[in-house]
Amino acid sequence: MTIESKLVAGNWKMNGMRADGAALARALVERAASAGDEIGCELLVCPPATLLETVGGVLAASGIALGGQDCHPASKGAYTGDISAEMLADLGCQYVILGHSERRHGYAETDALVRDKIQGARRADLVAILCVGETQSQRLAGDAVDVVASQLAGSMPDNADAANLVIAYEPVWAIGTGLTATTDDITAMHAEIRTRVPPGTRILYGGSVNPGNAGAILSLAEVDGALVGGASLNADDFWAIARSCPSPLP
Ligand code: PEP
Repeated sequence: MTIESKLVAGNWKMNGMRADGAALARALVERAASAGDEIGCELLVCPPATLLETVGGVLAASGIALGGQDCHPASKGAYTGDISAEMLADLGCQYVILGHSERRHGYAETDALVRDKIQGARRADLVAILCVGETQSQRLAGDAVDVVASQLAGSMPDNADAANLVIAYEPVWAIGTGLTATTDDITAMHAEIRTRVPPGTRILYGGSVNPGNAGAILSLAEVDGALVGGASLNADDFWAIARSCPSPLP
């Protein structure tokens, strides 16, 4: 599979009531409609589960894709509070973020669990966005590549391929902190990841991407897009990031 365009994905995390989600989605749809073919990337938004139906309705036919932020490995059953990949697909999702550091660290999600969730996503025909990344102490100890390699080895199913998997390299210390990895570090880590994933797999960078740094990050040949948290909650900022994608791809 060849990568034809970059992907800019917004992770809204646990933010927004239905009216907020609809307004944000409408603002993006308006910008997409007036930009026409000018926008050089694919766009995805991942709202909280409570907003998927509302946001999905606003995005319908806009070309902006919808995704979930997590799913359970099983398709259904006695798992109070959980959501299956099939349920996300039923709401119109095409993607699901899995293994985000806020789940790995906040809920002690293991590589094995993330792997099972990715299998669930595949079963439901969703593209899994597998998040990997080292903590600051792991980077300072010189272990960043080993940590990411081990997360990939432990969380990527054997049958993963570029059509159903996207990797998001998100250094934990850069998420929501305003710190970003240097372009040299991003290039080096993405090159390492590329040797460990199926050919053609998109590799996104995430970690405090904003309108000011997006141009430098998204123009890197090794970067196939961005996973954006905080800045995706503001339509102007998210749109400015999307517009930073080089178009057409070299
Ligand atoms: C994220 O949560 O995936 C993320 C990258 O957040 P932020 O852009 O706010 O650092």
